[in-house]
Amino acid sequence: LLEPDGTASPTIFAEITALAVAHDAINLGQGFPDEDGPQEVLDAATAAIRAGVNQYSPGRGHAELLAAVAEHQQRWYGLEIDPARQVLVTAGATEALAATLLALIDGPDDEVVVFEPYYDSYAACVALAGATLVPVPLRWPNLEPDLDDLRAAVSDRTRLIVVNDPHNPTGTVFSDDVRREIVRLSHHHDALIVTDEVYEHLVLDGPHVPIATLPDAAERTLSISSGGKTFRTTGWKVGWITGPAALIDAVLAVKQFLTYVNGAPFQPAIAAGLRLPDEYFQDLAATQRLRADLLGAGLTAAGFTVSNPAGSYFTVADASALLADGEDASDFCRTLPARIGVAAIPLTAFVSRQHRRDYATLVRFAACKRTEVIEAASARLAASA
Ligand code: PMP
Ligand code: GLN
Repeated sequence: LLEPDGTASPTIFAEITALAVAHDAINLGQGFPDEDGPQEVLDAATAAIRAGVNQYSPGRGHAELLAAVAEHQQRWYGLEIDPARQVLVTAGATEALAATLLALIDGPDDEVVVFEPYYDSYAACVALAGATLVPVPLRWPNLEPDLDDLRAAVSDRTRLIVVNDPHNPTGTVFSDDVRREIVRLSHHHDALIVTDEVYEHLVLDGPHVPIATLPDAAERTLSISSGGKTFRTTGWKVGWITGPAALIDAVLAVKQFLTYVNGAPFQPAIAAGLRLPDEYFQDLAATQRLRADLLGAGLTAAGFTVSNPAGSYFTVADASALLADGEDASDFCRTLPARIGVAAIPLTAFVSRQHRRDYATLVRFAACKRTEVIEAASARLAASA
């Protein structure tokens, strides 16, 4: 994880955000909203602080959040979860992923199947756990997994299949065929499934289908989510894992020595968010749909060829028509803030070194910003086209 000279390189998100700040650029790179979440959720956090919820929470999480997560899984997906034994609160989905991978990977003979491009922490955590990453490609332009590629990747060496659905950075929502095949393969090869569902309420034409709801899946699936995207509170870092009690216990054994517990007053606040009426969640997805459409139109007008995302915050754009001779999307993104006043992330940041060439012209833009901000970014890009 270190550079050859021993320094820690910043993540691509930190690097591009720093460039955006330095050049006063519109940041469509790092995926964070530019407006606060619902007032009820913000008020619940200040109320919790005032009420003295300021010391360590219980090891598995604040009781109100454990209950609210279980209720949420029942309300939206019909899943029956025991809040006392089948939920674990974590410092964001990031810690949930790290603790899960460290807990469930046995050693160097284990393989972890991921869909590539993948969220950057997956490869880092697999490396920390000393296992081998096995990518299943999502190829441009449809950015969907091929069932034969999936079958070729999973074997008796597979310990975990990590499924990010809706998917960052591609915006792909997996098909039922792919979900069913993941479950079938996990049984056939005795692998476990780890899902990353932080964009569960950002499916543009819902509903979201958690893998744990498929037949025979819940018994071998750990489902991860987070309040960051759903309640526009990415800085609060409240995440959670649900699944079989024995697997949750294994992850707790690791989590308790990573952070022990996290952010006590934010936990009842996220519980209040999870209990908001259905309309809140429906509006969130409908707003994202409008923003994704607006961004897609803006990027097309500026000369990009764009993906048609089905979920998440993200749109992938092929910059081929805009690249100078010998330039790739990584060069393009590193100069874009200074040249045009817009920041975006090259897709190569989400793929293993040996596959970078396949994604060399592709850029990820985040559409989790206010309408006027997306319009201003589109205008800057179009002016330079
Ligand atoms: N997984 C995915 C796919 C993400 O995009 C992110 C970042 N938002 C995370 C995990 C991390 O979530 P959190 O901020 O809750 O740690
Ligand atoms: N999840 C966000 C993204 O993909 C940001 C994550 C981060 O900064 N580590 O843009």
